[in-house]
Amino acid sequence: MIFDELYNIAKKTLNPRQISKNSSASSVAAAILTDKGNVYTGVCIDTPCSMGFCAEHAAIASMITAGENRIVKLVAVYKDGSIIPPCGRCREFICQIHDDNYKCAVMVRKDTIVTIDDLLPYSWERNNL
Ligand SMILES: [Zn+2]
Repeated sequence: MIFDELYNIAKKTLNPRQISKNSSASSVAAAILTDKGNVYTGVCIDTPCSMGFCAEHAAIASMITAGENRIVKLVAVYKDGSIIPPCGRCREFICQIHDDNYKCAVMVRKDTIVTIDDLLPYSWERNNL
């Protein structure tokens, strides 16, 4: 699957809306492709008191629920269609759920693909490998 397809799946997953007085959801959607060729999607949940989580986080939870954990491609899309690189926490989270996920290709701009290793160099974990 090429990145353009993954981007379109993420974009179609967007459904930005207010879900309660103080919380909103789905202004960012992520799509991840696994080594088995399956795609999982997720959206962010934005709440007060830091209880929400990122779209990547939600997509990963869906993937783990389905019994997979090796990510080969990832893209996250904001509600205006722009591409958002994963935050630091998600970069670390992705690395911790499979030992080879640092090789995961990430679309960070329309014309730019990098790896998680590029985004999270000098890992505390991989420096010992
Ligand atoms: Zn994140």
